[in-house]
Amino acid sequence: MEWPEIPPCDRQAVRFVDSHLHLDSTDSPLAVANARAAGVALLACGVDRETSQGVLKFAVSNPGTVEAFVGIHPSEAERERDLSWVSEALEQARGAGEIGLDPSYSSTGKGSAQLAAFSAQLEAAERRMAPVQVHSRGAEAQVLDVLGSFRTGPVLMHWLGREEVLQAVLQKGYYVSFSPALIYSKSLQRLALKCDRALTLLESDSPVPYGPLGGVHGPALVPSVAFRLAELWGAHPLEVLAETARNAHRFLGGDSKG
Ligand SMILES: [Zn+2]
Repeated sequence: MEWPEIPPCDRQAVRFVDSHLHLDSTDSPLAVANARAAGVALLACGVDRETSQGVLKFAVSNPGTVEAFVGIHPSEAERERDLSWVSEALEQARGAGEIGLDPSYSSTGKGSAQLAAFSAQLEAAERRMAPVQVHSRGAEAQVLDVLGSFRTGPVLMHWLGREEVLQAVLQKGYYVSFSPALIYSKSLQRLALKCDRALTLLESDSPVPYGPLGGVHGPALVPSVAFRLAELWGAHPLEVLAETARNAHRFLGGDSKG
C-alpha cells in the first residue's frame, strides 16, 4: 500500500514503547541494553514476588528505559498466597501488573486465590491511583466487573482477544495493547480495526515466542506491530509509533495529548 507523507516528527516522537513485557529470561539484560541504546521504553511486569523484585532492580539501574510494574499473575495466585509484600513493592514501582483473572489456571470464583490476589492488588493500586496492567483471558466480563469496583489509575487490558468486550473496554477508557500476533492473526486484525487509536498501545509480551514468526520474541518486534497497525488504519508507521508512544505516556500518568 502507499503510505501518506511522513509527518513532521522529532527524535522524541518516534521513540517507541513496549507497553507490556517480562524481564525474567536469561537474555533480558541484553534486551534492556539494546532498548537503552535505541531509546526504547519498556513497561516491564512481574508475575510473582521474585520477578517483581527483578523488574524493580532493572528499573533502578535503567531509569528512563524500564518502568516497573509489580504483581501476581493469575497463573501464580495459588502459589503466592502471601500478599503482604504487594503494597510495599507497589510504592517503589510505576504501577501494578501483570494482575488479573484466568480460569485456565485455577478457579476465579468467590473465595478463590485468584480473586483474592486480584482484588488486593487493585485495592493497593487504588490507594496510589497507580496504572494497572491486566490479564483477562477467558474471564473478560468478570475482570471488567471487578475493575468497575475500584478507582485505580489508567487500565491496560493487555492482549485483549475478545471482540465482544472491546466496546465496553473502550467506553471505560481502558487501553488495549497489541502483540506481534497481530501480524498474522485475522481476529486480532479485526479487533484492531475497531479499536480507538487514542487508546491503543504496542507490546511484545516478551519472552513469549511467536511460532508463525519463526519463534522469535522481544521488544524488537514492536515496530512490526506498528507497521501492521499502520496498514490496517491507513496511517504512516512512524505516526503509529509516535501516537502509541504518546498513549503510553498518558497511560503512565502523563498528560500527553493524543
Ligand atoms: Zn504478560
